[in-house]
Amino acid sequence: MVTPPDVSIPVLLYGLAVLGGFGFLWFYYDRRDRTRYDVERRKITFHCIRCDELYTERKGTEIAPCPRCGHANVHLKF
Ligand SMILES: [Zn+2]
Repeated sequence: MVTPPDVSIPVLLYGLAVLGGFGFLWFYYDRRDRTRYDVERRKITFHCIRCDELYTERKGTEIAPCPRCGHANVHLKF
């Protein structure tokens, strides 16, 4: 039976903890970026016919008021 040196176990545990920490951070930021990207992709662009303002609203919105002049614009389907 082989007994490992006293030092290797704490070092191994420390290495695993560091790797686990990095793995967790990577996973966390990857998830967060993907969620943000999804929100951006679900937005649609409106164009105000009164003041020429361009603005975005969530996908599925048919009529959105212009943030500059308040004119309700209908989403144009191409
Ligand atoms: Zn406007």
